[in-house]
Amino acid sequence: MSEKSFATSLCCMDGRIQLPMINWIKKKYSVDFVDIITAPGIDKVISDGNIESIKNSVMISISNHKSSHIIISGHFGCAGNPVSKEEHFTHIKKSVEIVNSWNLDADVIGIWIDENFAPHSL
Ligand SMILES: [Zn+2]
Repeated sequence: MSEKSFATSLCCMDGRIQLPMINWIKKKYSVDFVDIITAPGIDKVISDGNIESIKNSVMISISNHKSSHIIISGHFGCAGNPVSKEEHFTHIKKSVEIVNSWNLDADVIGIWIDENFAPHSL
């Protein structure tokens, strides 16, 4: 019996992005399940260094589910982080650097979700 595979999505709480992100991640990284860790405007939250609760959740996903990929996203029309697309890119990239500094056994990827709710790798 093969073990089920997991990835971890660090994404906004926004309900419009959840299914597109889950479907994209499952297809792109060939995983069975996606653990979801949310906060409003999570790219801003992590890049500001407010990581304690988020890090605790990520550690459970990594330790218990052996998650192989951590996907950090920001999205168009974000109410929690209402800034320009360029500022989102800056926040997402900084968030990737921060999570990479935790030295987890998983790839850390930044994603932009556009106005059509299509995810793009940064
Ligand atoms: Zn949002």
